[in-house]
Amino acid sequence: MILILLGPPGSGKGTQSKRLMEKYNLPQISTGDILRAEVGKGTELGRRAKAVMDSGKLVSDDIILGIIKNRVEEPDCKKGFIFDGFPRTIPQAEGLKELLKQKRLKITKVLNIHLDDEIVVQRLGGRWTCTKCGAIFHASTNPPKKKGRCDKCNGELYQRDDQKESAVKERLNVYKKQTEPLINFYKKEKLLVDIDGTPSIDEIFKEITELLEGNV
Ligand code: AMP
Repeated sequence: MILILLGPPGSGKGTQSKRLMEKYNLPQISTGDILRAEVGKGTELGRRAKAVMDSGKLVSDDIILGIIKNRVEEPDCKKGFIFDGFPRTIPQAEGLKELLKQKRLKITKVLNIHLDDEIVVQRLGGRWTCTKCGAIFHASTNPPKKKGRCDKCNGELYQRDDQKESAVKERLNVYKKQTEPLINFYKKEKLLVDIDGTPSIDEIFKEITELLEGNV
């Protein structure tokens, strides 16, 4: 099974893809997480990506497609994978199409989680991420049991630079200009399914799994 999660920042793509990963035992491939790991390790790629990420803009398509090509060759990807935050531009979607064609693989579904702009800004403002395992919490909708600490691994929680207000607005603009055209791209490929991003995490997850189990 190959899934793509589309949606504006804050729509819950990361949370849903982590749950899907656990349920279907498939790797979640988040280009954002991979880039943040490079930043953390202080690699050349990480240093180049950090400034772009902090401003809310997109890292170049060549870099992203290079990351994806290497990642899908890893052994854990044999049974499929879940893309979270990739593709983000039409050239990335074209690059993915070509890559999958070469490997004789097909996308199962593109889940488009939609959410209004005001809710995006509200949600991202209250986000906390675990420094150790990457789990995401929210001050009002999904608070950690212990303030500032991760429920899963007790790691310290922090607010990412790209979740500051000016970066959030820029990420939303970038999403509209560069990523939203993917909705039509995948509609034409008859792969798109719309999911309302406003219900609770559990309700959205239930909708997604019911949908997939009717299809896979
Ligand atoms: P995310 O955690 O998915 O919101 O990603 C954080 C940041 O990493 C984005 O704002 C971009 O700067 C960069 N990034 C992640 N995935 C991509 C991608 N597929 N294409 C370009 N830039 C990306």
